[in-house]
Amino acid sequence: MSKVVLVTGGSRGIGAAVCRLAAKAGYDVAVNYAGREDAARAVAAEVKALGRRAVILQADVGNADAIPDLFDRCIEEFGGLDAVVNNAGVINKTAPLADLSVEEIRRIVDIDLTSAMLVAREAVRRMSTARGGKGGVLVNMSSRASELAGVGGFIPYGAAKGGIDVLTIGLGREVAGEGIRVCGIRPGLIDTDIQNDTGVEQRMERFGPTVPMGRGGTADEVAETVLWLMSEKASYVTATTIDVSGGR
Ligand code: NAP
Repeated sequence: MSKVVLVTGGSRGIGAAVCRLAAKAGYDVAVNYAGREDAARAVAAEVKALGRRAVILQADVGNADAIPDLFDRCIEEFGGLDAVVNNAGVINKTAPLADLSVEEIRRIVDIDLTSAMLVAREAVRRMSTARGGKGGVLVNMSSRASELAGVGGFIPYGAAKGGIDVLTIGLGREVAGEGIRVCGIRPGLIDTDIQNDTGVEQRMERFGPTVPMGRGGTADEVAETVLWLMSEKASYVTATTIDVSGGR
């Protein structure tokens, strides 16, 4: 039987690249999305064209009640769950902290940290061998903004991603004896739609050359590392986070 992966925010960008590469690696794929059903459908069609099963699952991970239901629907569809990529995320419009509204700060922390913690909690509830599951892998999508402290107008985002790094270490150690590996990735400047949400014009073009490698990265370059972490090749890797950032 093939393996199953649930990718939150699988409709676009890095999550979509993970869905495609996971299908190539033989996974059936649950593509979660928030609002872009069209994009989720297109990713699912690509997964199916690669000969794997796909389902699109709408759920706003910022809504705590939607998360158990998201997992239920995935498991109902495929009969199991082997890996979860905790990837859905948003970024604040660049601004000094002193100029940000409480609503904007809460939105970023809710979606980038609280929801990621709730997705992680649900993943453990479903996969832990101590809770009747068969084990699995959880990959948390952090950002270089955590260690760079969100300097440049992204303090809420950087702080939320710092929380993700702590989640990866703490949970990885907590469930290491329960058949679950918990790993993280800190992408650098990656060419996806999220760049437009920062409000910075031509962010890739402007900042790409400042990366030590002299360019921004692609969603596929991040997804390759996700797939490696999900694989048995990373069988002794847990409670740690890998930078995929061209040296940034
Ligand atoms: P993206 O292209 O903007 O895609 C974001 C994805 O997340 C979409 O699939 C979107 O769904 C989904 N999403 C957003 N809010 C959601 C919610 N409340 N519930 C469910 N899904 C939601 O962004 P990306 O660059 O691929 O980012 C993916 C992850 O990588 C994020 O966690 C981001 O912080 C992280 N990251 C990105 C970069 C970068 O430079 N691109 C760098 C470091 C870290 P819809 O399509 O339905 O809107």
